[in-house]
Amino acid sequence: MERVHVVEHPAVADRLTRLRDGVAPPALFRRLLEELGTFLAYEATRVLATQPVEVRTPLGPAAGRRFAGRPVAAPILRAGLGLLPGFLTVIEEAVVAHLGFFRDPDTLAAIPYYANLPDDLSGRDVFVLDPMLATGHTAAAAIGFLAARGARDPWLLCAIAAPEGLAHLLEAHPGAQIVTAAIDHGLNEHGYILPGLGDAGDRMFGSASSLPAGFRPGAAAQPGGAAQRGG
Ligand code: URA
Repeated sequence: MERVHVVEHPAVADRLTRLRDGVAPPALFRRLLEELGTFLAYEATRVLATQPVEVRTPLGPAAGRRFAGRPVAAPILRAGLGLLPGFLTVIEEAVVAHLGFFRDPDTLAAIPYYANLPDDLSGRDVFVLDPMLATGHTAAAAIGFLAARGARDPWLLCAIAAPEGLAHLLEAHPGAQIVTAAIDHGLNEHGYILPGLGDAGDRMFGSASSLPAGFRPGAAAQPGGAAQRGG
């Protein structure tokens, strides 16, 4: 079974190229990522089961098909949120599970800081959303979270994958499948994809650091006790 699907389509190439362009401001970046999310979801959700239904057109009955279940979309905070509206355009009925991870800048390990997902994912079709598959640590950890709740063989939808991330994820989760718009050359010493598009979360939100506030070097404790955790 082919487990890595690279979407070859002129509309996908167009959106990806404009996303990579460093001059795209956040509003345009978000729109392009949303559109890419639609195309990636269209490809990945070919596998979904449908069931027969009958509707009435103004002229009479018509046999059709509708989705048989409610898939789960799991965006990884922050940047995965960029693919979510496009995914929901394709699968309106999806349940959304949020997973927050940030990368330790020194070790590049994935540090979880938030999870809101159904307790039981057995029998559900699960689609993880994260535009950048870099080292693969975050995606593998997210899929581990989902698998611990019964998710079988989730899909990962990403805009750009690095060979290192693909290898790590496929080894960590032999059942996972990946849909991506491109496979790039590799990673730099900070774990960023080359040529990639930079930090997807920062480009989406106009921020200057992908670390949650309480985890930045020299961060003071936040009011209320623990360090503030936000995506
Ligand atoms: N995350 C990003 O946003 N960009 C990369 O290149 C790698 C991880």
